[in-house]
Amino acid sequence: MLEENKLSRRQILSGLGASLAVATVGPVLSAEGAIGAAEPAAEPLKDPTTAYPKPPFKSQQQPWPGLASKMEPLPDHGEKSYKGSGRLKGRKALITGGDSGMGRAAAIAYAREGADVAINYLPAEEADAKEVIALIKAAGQKAVAIPGDLRDEAFCKKLVEEAVRQLGGLDIVVSNAARQQQRQSILDLSTEDFDATMKTNIYAPFWIIKAALPHLKPGSAIIGTTSEQATDPSADLYDYAQTKAATTNYVRSLAKQLAPKGIRVNGVAPGPIWTPLQVSGGATQEKLVKFGGDTPMKRPGQPAELAGIYVLLADPLASYATGQVYGSSGGAGMP
Ligand code: NAD
Ligand code: MG
Repeated sequence: MLEENKLSRRQILSGLGASLAVATVGPVLSAEGAIGAAEPAAEPLKDPTTAYPKPPFKSQQQPWPGLASKMEPLPDHGEKSYKGSGRLKGRKALITGGDSGMGRAAAIAYAREGADVAINYLPAEEADAKEVIALIKAAGQKAVAIPGDLRDEAFCKKLVEEAVRQLGGLDIVVSNAARQQQRQSILDLSTEDFDATMKTNIYAPFWIIKAALPHLKPGSAIIGTTSEQATDPSADLYDYAQTKAATTNYVRSLAKQLAPKGIRVNGVAPGPIWTPLQVSGGATQEKLVKFGGDTPMKRPGQPAELAGIYVLLADPLASYATGQVYGSSGGAGMP
């Protein structure tokens, strides 16, 4: 089948809003020219309120930054469920925090959509990262592992250079890594703590995007992971929440700056999601046991449930969307 034909079918369907879904069924024009569905048959409807675990959760604590493989229950990053349909074929993506959580879900989805993927993570997360590298390779794509600490400007520059060198270019940058450590009082927050949060969540994206920009051609996409904390900060996340307000803000500023260059910049604003960040000091044990229970869906989200959003924001089908923040919070919060 001609590539042009495939494209025109996708364009037709995007007008119907189908591009928002993570397509598991390839749309086709029937012999008569009507829009129909090809095999395999549609998946049965799934109730999102009962699709994933609900609180109460087991009390659990890991040292920062934590491992997904040690969480109970294990998070779902789409390992068994995400099906691609060539939406990012030929693209080259760098994802920070790609070992676990939202970064891992994006890495799996991007690879299954046809992209080569480089991931960054802390050396302590090598075990999680190895699983992701194997999953990217299993999707038939190039997988690049670049461990290192993003609080170091020289490393951030090296990370981008390495990703460009090993991938042979760069089209998608997902700035997703972050540090979150709850503190009951501002009096318990040390200058070292505050500095580590600012370096990881604000300085690193600045350093990485600056280093990446000369490599990004028109059509490229930058995606930042922000949070509902940007607009509705928790009392015990004084430092973290303000970095997320900064993230939402830089997405909107950079989108205006880079739109004339054909580079889109968007954000994803999750609500409570079941990831290592929460079990390694991000939340109190009291909050963890009830995690996500106060959302209208009465449960936390799983990283896999955000994969389609990261794909959408990188997909050229969303070429007019820039400067947007896309929420995913089980009905609570504001992006
Ligand atoms: P996660 O722990 O799986 O991912 C965070 C990643 O950040 C880690 O895997 C780690 O590799 C990376 N990281 C932290 N400090 C680093 C450093 N100094 N150098 C290099 N890498 C470093 O947790 P997650 O929840 O998937 O977090 C991903 C993003 O989602 C973060 O930006 C976080 O703020 C955001 N977020 C999470 C939630 C939630 O409830 N889990 C809600 C809103 C926003
Ligand atoms: Mg991790």
